[in-house]
Amino acid sequence: MRRAPSAALPAPTTGERHDWQTLKSLFPFIWAYKGRVLFALACLVAAKGANVSVPIIFKHLIDGLTITPEQAFIVVPAALLLAYGALRFSTSLLTELREVVFARVTQQAVREISLRVFRHLHALSLRFHLERQTGGLTRDIERGTRSIGSLISYTLYSILPTLIEIGMVIGILLANYDAVFALITLCALTIYIVFTVKVTNWRTALRREANELDSAANARAIDSLINYETVKYFNNEEFEARRYDEQLQKWTKAQVTNQYSLSALNVGQAAIIAVAVTAMMWQAAGRVASGEMTIGDIVLVNAFMIQLYIPLNFLGVLYREIRQSLTDIERMFGLMHTHREIADAPDAHTLPTGPASVRFENVSFAYDAKRPILFDVDFDIPAGSTVAVVGHSGSGKSTLARLLYRFYDVQGGAIRIDGHDLRSLTQDSLRAAIGIVPQDTVLFNDSLYYNIHYGRPNASREEVEAATRAAQLEDFIRQLPEGYETRVGERGLKLSGGEKQRVAIARALLKNPAILIFDEATSALDSRTEKAIQAQIERAAEGRTALVIAHRLSTIMDADEIIVLDKGRIVERGRHALLLAQGGAYAQMWLLQQQEETADSAAAGVRDDGADAKSFAAPAGGVA
Ligand code: ATP
Repeated sequence: MRRAPSAALPAPTTGERHDWQTLKSLFPFIWAYKGRVLFALACLVAAKGANVSVPIIFKHLIDGLTITPEQAFIVVPAALLLAYGALRFSTSLLTELREVVFARVTQQAVREISLRVFRHLHALSLRFHLERQTGGLTRDIERGTRSIGSLISYTLYSILPTLIEIGMVIGILLANYDAVFALITLCALTIYIVFTVKVTNWRTALRREANELDSAANARAIDSLINYETVKYFNNEEFEARRYDEQLQKWTKAQVTNQYSLSALNVGQAAIIAVAVTAMMWQAAGRVASGEMTIGDIVLVNAFMIQLYIPLNFLGVLYREIRQSLTDIERMFGLMHTHREIADAPDAHTLPTGPASVRFENVSFAYDAKRPILFDVDFDIPAGSTVAVVGHSGSGKSTLARLLYRFYDVQGGAIRIDGHDLRSLTQDSLRAAIGIVPQDTVLFNDSLYYNIHYGRPNASREEVEAATRAAQLEDFIRQLPEGYETRVGERGLKLSGGEKQRVAIARALLKNPAILIFDEATSALDSRTEKAIQAQIERAAEGRTALVIAHRLSTIMDADEIIVLDKGRIVERGRHALLLAQGGAYAQMWLLQQQEETADSAAAGVRDDGADAKSFAAPAGGVA
């Protein structure tokens, strides 16, 4: 196994310097395969040598034929013809050999860079992922990785060989003919290259704009398709199509401008080459007429020009493609420079395993500095006990869970586990200690088994089945024709809300962490399933530290402490009975929910006995 090169990736800047930096940072990934690179380069030089020799042999062949026909037929052609054939073949052979040897270098570089970007994206904060649109992001990565292959092949397979060939041709012309031929070739090439680079640089801005519009159109389409159901609910297919088309129109306009500028460039390049070829032939023809050059010489000069003309014609395209690839790679590398909002401290330590107490110590927090969400929130969850947080929608309950997971850092106060500030712990060890049943469960587009097993990838099948049983999922899975192998659809959309929630419970149970967070874990379940699961959750929470965010108060009445949050502040706290007795916000919420449940039960013709039967996690008799 080769070690991935430890190249620093370029910081986002602009212009030429940036391109060099991008190239420089790619270099170590390629140089890791030194032997192959050097062998490929040797093949390259040899192939070009053979290629340049072909017109020379051809010249001798023609000159030989012209002087003495008998000799030409008997001696000269036999050797030269064989050499001619051998050289032609060896050019192709060496080129293929180079490609075969180099293929592994390119593909490994692509693999290593893709993997790095992927790891980095997972290391970036939740804020980054919430703000970036996945469609645009994947497009950037896809284009970036594809461009690595293109860039390497363009530079190594096209630009470098062309430069080597140009050098050889100019050398041969200088050594054998009037300097005017080398001069014309050199001048034409210089003008050609300068023209191409200048025009291409101007076009790069147009390309960038087209790319951005392309990503934007793609992101819009993906966002719309992800929201398929919502679009249908509101009959907004036309509206969505119009929004997509708006983006497409801008993109089309940019692409058309792009094409105009491309044609202008191509015409200019062709004109430079045409003038150069004519001048060369003019000079050669004059010299043949005056006897200074042979017919073979004019064939040689012509063959050189044609031979150079072909790759030169591509040089413009290649330069553009290389610039484009560099732009794409730079964009992908730009992701690598996105600041990691949450990073392990240099001296971060591992959270010891075992029972853990949690402390929110005067925590203040804002997602956006202009809008504070939590104010001075202070509470403890002693190891093995359960604290429930209730409050109106938007009061900051789920935010507490996100902070405990350290998706964000607090701005004031601290969160501690067993006295360790979260910021002093490694994120790995912190997250290993916490299991969550989130409010909205999103599943991988894979089988049910895969999704449950995800909770602890090294768990045995028996353990997965036990967790499934504990989450009351077994009956459901048994009735599916494909059982555990049933695929759940994109984001788990083929399952009902309650089924998804039970999968989430099963995988949190499988993870078997010291701290459990239930973020409205049973909100999508009907009361019968809720009751059944509640008992399992209680069992699962036993001996663990649990933070329970609940909407239905009946599910948390046995918690060791209930925190009532209002607009980010703790307004009441205590046990269920105490809070009821206080007659404050909690008591009001309780009353309201009781009335609702009674009304619901009455409507369904069922006796309302749910509240008493449902309780959470705390030892019996926990109600004060
Ligand atoms: P609910 O019961 O509806 O789930 P909640 O009490 O759990 O609500 P939170 O999800 O904690 O509420 O959100 C608290 C506030 O923070 C809300 O007003 C929400 O708009 C805001 N908020 C949540 N996530 C973000 C975010 N990533 N960026 C900015 N604001 C956010």
